[in-house]
Amino acid sequence: MSKGKLFVISGPSGVGKSTAIAEVMRQYPNLRFSVSATTREKRPGEVDGVSYFFLSREEFEKKRDNGELLEHAEYVGNYYGTPEAPVNAALEEGIDILLDIEPVGAMQVKARRPDAVLVFMAAPSFAELERRLVGRGDTAPDKIAKRLEKARWEYTQAPQYDYIVLSDKVQTTAGEILSIITAEKCKASDRRHLLEEE
Ligand code: 5GP
Repeated sequence: MSKGKLFVISGPSGVGKSTAIAEVMRQYPNLRFSVSATTREKRPGEVDGVSYFFLSREEFEKKRDNGELLEHAEYVGNYYGTPEAPVNAALEEGIDILLDIEPVGAMQVKARRPDAVLVFMAAPSFAELERRLVGRGDTAPDKIAKRLEKARWEYTQAPQYDYIVLSDKVQTTAGEILSIITAEKCKASDRRHLLEEE
């Protein structure tokens, strides 16, 4: 059995990552979502252990210092990080895993696992991104300004990714991501087992 592949998706806050990821997972069941740890407050509708593991700063720092995180970063005043054990477990089981993380963390993943596939999701325009973030209605105006400032910096990191997808209609965006996954799974280096004689 071949091992799973690690996919990383980044993109500015409000670009539509969660919606596109949900659609990708619906259409491609062999993909597991990596649940991150964070110190930010839970938003309405979020479930601990499903959306994120919501931790205090002390709990987070303990995990980070114990080396339990594959990557971690600070984003607009809060810590975010990927617990490493579930990622390794999925890959060993032959299940592909998807990380929704910001660029500082994405670059740490790339450094530690060069075979990870990095995908950046961009909005059709910056004005559209601002409109989506405001329209979501779950983030205070001062936080929106910080997230937009962050988004400008995130765009400068996009050329370091393997792919850039356009966050437009959900089906189109999900289609682009699914095409990337399919192409990566068909790489000759991952298909050698098909050439072996029994
Ligand atoms: P939000 O607070 O809107 O859920 O996420 C804010 C940002 O943190 C998003 O860009 C998201 O991709 C990123 N993020 C979520 N989990 C992680 C993580 O485990 N590590 C890193 N580096 N970023 C994360």
